[in-house]
Amino acid sequence: MPDSLVNLLYIVSAMLFVFGLKMLSRASTARRGNGISAIGMLLAIVTALASDTLIHWHWIVAGLALGSVIGALAARLVAMTSMPEMVALFNGFGGIASLLVGWVEFQRIYSGGMMMSAPWSDLLIIGITVLIGGVTFTGSIIAWGKLSEKINSKPVLYRGQQVVNALAVILILGAILLISIGRPLIGSGKQFEFLSVYPVFVALGVLSFVLGVMVVIPIGGGDMPVVISLLNSYSGMAACAAGFVIKNNVLIVSGAFVGSSGIILTNIMCKAMNRSLSNVLFSGFGSGRKARHVAGIVGEVKPISAENAYPILEAAQNVLIVPGYGMAVAQAQHAVEELSSILRDNGTEVNFGIHPVAGRMPGHMNVLLAEANVPYDQLREMDDVNPTMELVDVALVIGANDVVNPAARNDENSPLHGMPIVNVDKARTVIVFKRSLNPGFAGIDNPLFFGENTRMLFGDAKSSVQSLTAEFKD
Ligand code: NAP
Repeated sequence: MPDSLVNLLYIVSAMLFVFGLKMLSRASTARRGNGISAIGMLLAIVTALASDTLIHWHWIVAGLALGSVIGALAARLVAMTSMPEMVALFNGFGGIASLLVGWVEFQRIYSGGMMMSAPWSDLLIIGITVLIGGVTFTGSIIAWGKLSEKINSKPVLYRGQQVVNALAVILILGAILLISIGRPLIGSGKQFEFLSVYPVFVALGVLSFVLGVMVVIPIGGGDMPVVISLLNSYSGMAACAAGFVIKNNVLIVSGAFVGSSGIILTNIMCKAMNRSLSNVLFSGFGSGRKARHVAGIVGEVKPISAENAYPILEAAQNVLIVPGYGMAVAQAQHAVEELSSILRDNGTEVNFGIHPVAGRMPGHMNVLLAEANVPYDQLREMDDVNPTMELVDVALVIGANDVVNPAARNDENSPLHGMPIVNVDKARTVIVFKRSLNPGFAGIDNPLFFGENTRMLFGDAKSSVQSLTAEFKD
């Protein structure tokens, strides 16, 4: 196939990626966007394969068949709630695939006797690919373990941690320099067996694996979604670097898309939590060492039963449902959908107010509510619902805590201060569904629970919502 045609087809697939990514930003077009990006990827793969005359097709077909079976099984069998774990694993596979591309290319140069003659820039980029791919692989495995609670999700912190990590980075950078511009110093393997290019390359791979583990263990399970988004970005950068290694334009472009969109998502999540990326990566948030902050809490808690909550809801003209992590824990999304339908049948206007970091992954609430068939047009963003909060008759807070904590607005000393919240405290009546007065992810007490207009419906969110629905049915 002529080069000009190959490049033209690569440009078409890159355009399909751009349109696909754009459509992923809206729930209503996301599914189509995914399909368009997948067509772009298919076109890129077919073009890459068709343009290479040295391909061993049996390997390609075997890889495609195996990958398709694993992908189809994963899509069918993995529960919606386990998506973050699956994404973590897939990022890791992306990282290791890029590392293997770098290794194969290194091996080709080495066994072809070109170790001393190959351009230093080729070896530099191979080293960078191995570094990013290795960190992404082991970092993602740890993130997967923490999210799925296969390993302890608490941050692992020890004295001198930053120094150890910095030392590992220095050694890795040294190894990359040695195998690229420093080759004349160490030789290709015949003169100095131990400090020759190959052992240094292997050490680079091992150290990259170790670094991936070390940078993720100090981060708590609750912050893993941010880490996964960051690792997703790394896997894109690793693929981009691999594209430079094998000189494939579309791999460079698609890797850059994944790398940059991952960084953008990481940034959006940090902003929505009013935390910096360095705070997420290095503060050990969630290690349980932080004091609970109780300043400014006045008033008393007013519990309510489902029976007594019923007339309030029955009389409401409009209701705003604000879900949070507790809805996911209780798996209450179907019960919530049933309650919202009953309210609507009763003539009440019902909307869902979604905070961008409610739950434990970006879009967590959207995914759960979509699974329960709540129509997209009822899901409204925080910035959409806040201006009219005073007009809301009843706000139902289902297992949310930090994302509705007014201390973020009112208490300058609160660690949540500055984090945008859904201002449910401004609604006429608030009913909070949770099991106790325990704090949420940030470990901060919530003055909302003591508010004049707040009623606490204690218990598991799913059973409480079902009891309320039963009241309507009765
Ligand atoms: P949250 O602050 O963690 O609060 C969740 C609440 O759910 C808890 O207070 C808990 O109270 C309640 N709960 C747990 N199980 C329940 C059950 N079975 N039934 C009823 N209630 C239950 O959750 P959030 O308001 O959704 O806030 C999310 C937090 O995660 C934020 O701090 C955010 O910054 C952080 N975060 C989010 C992301 C993301 O991507 N979304 C990423 C990193 C961090 P009880 O124990 O009293 O029931």
